[in-house]
Amino acid sequence: MNQSSALFEQAQVVIPGGVNSPVRAFKSVGGTPVFFSHGEGARLIDVDGKHYIDYVLSFGPLLLGHSAPVILDAIREQLDRAVTFGAPTELEIRMAQKLVELVPSMDQVRMVNSGTEATMSAIRLARGYTGRDKVVKFEGNYHGHSDGLLVKAGSGALTLGEPTSPGVPADFARHTITLPYNDAAAVRACFDELGDDIATVIVEPVAGNMNCIPPEPGFLETLREQCDQHGSVLIFDEVMSGFRAALGGAQARYGIKPDLTCLGKVVGGGLPVGAFGGRRDIMAQLSPLGPVYQAGTLSGNPIAMAAGLAMLNEISKPGFQDRINTQAEKLVNGMQKAADEAGVPFTTNQVGSMFGFFFSSDQKISRYEQVMQCDVERFKRFFHGMLEQGVYLAPSAFEAGFMSVAHDDAVIEETLHAARKTFSRL
Ligand code: PMP
Repeated sequence: MNQSSALFEQAQVVIPGGVNSPVRAFKSVGGTPVFFSHGEGARLIDVDGKHYIDYVLSFGPLLLGHSAPVILDAIREQLDRAVTFGAPTELEIRMAQKLVELVPSMDQVRMVNSGTEATMSAIRLARGYTGRDKVVKFEGNYHGHSDGLLVKAGSGALTLGEPTSPGVPADFARHTITLPYNDAAAVRACFDELGDDIATVIVEPVAGNMNCIPPEPGFLETLREQCDQHGSVLIFDEVMSGFRAALGGAQARYGIKPDLTCLGKVVGGGLPVGAFGGRRDIMAQLSPLGPVYQAGTLSGNPIAMAAGLAMLNEISKPGFQDRINTQAEKLVNGMQKAADEAGVPFTTNQVGSMFGFFFSSDQKISRYEQVMQCDVERFKRFFHGMLEQGVYLAPSAFEAGFMSVAHDDAVIEETLHAARKTFSRL
């Protein structure tokens, strides 16, 4: 038995399913999760000493790759001062200033500790601001695991969402309306019927939780237009697309201004950080200025702020985004070519440094149903083939992939070599 398997056995005794977040358990691909001990640039090293090229990058944060010296130095420098105060620090101002500078729609921002907290807080704020209860979200989008967001479309009626998890009260879920992604007509119909009850529309402006799906032209514009017409708050969940779809997020890439934006992942440089922010008049409703309550013992933690700021400073240097996006393009094009040569039906999406691989004969994937029809069995074989050859992909056909600046041409070529071999065996 290898070390990963031995550790997984121990883990399952004391941790539910052996993992602290479900997708890590390899449930959808089968087999035993790999336990890692080191990360260096584009690579991971597991507890058995095997090396992997990593396209998960902790599900997105590590834009600079593993153990980037600028991040480690920033953490070390802060460590010498203090770990946490629970009182204001200058670092929090510098972080907020940087975010307001980078994210086009943000006048003010508040730091939290995860993406889930960011979306949960933004929704409470939108409800408090509008005095309405209903939330519109989209099928296949994920916004963390808070009650009101673990909801799928109900049968027939627009008004009755159904919980996707036991523990979410149906009374709660009925305030959430779930619509098809990239379906502007469905959004208009929903607003025609319920517009004046809708507090907020929350959307992944580039979807990254049903693999990677860009918004179709007109979709985000329709959300903006309908929210404006009905006085609803538009929330862009840029936890994944932030700093990846473009430096200023999907809102910068597509030129649409949401009222509130949620951030996570990259913003903490690999430490547990989230943020939400936006229009000054809406943010003014937040406690202690306004009546909408939101708080956090470790929010704005100095070590996390130091790591996040180091990340943001590095990635806003001229040319950074172009460099990383070019690497993503090389990977995606090379994968397509390798699949074509092997005669495997395959297509890809790429937005900035996020990408998706689909085992499908459709040329273009833009809808949730298309993602659901992809060949999951083939993905599993591909996943395990790549893993065996030292390429670590997300252990699910429905996760986006991520590029880092540490993935140089040699790393990409090594990946494509493994892919050619794997495709030929599918
Ligand atoms: N929103 C989006 C778009 C996400 O991708 C995620 C996590 N993958 C979340 C929210 C939740 O973030 P966290 O896991 O940090 O709570």
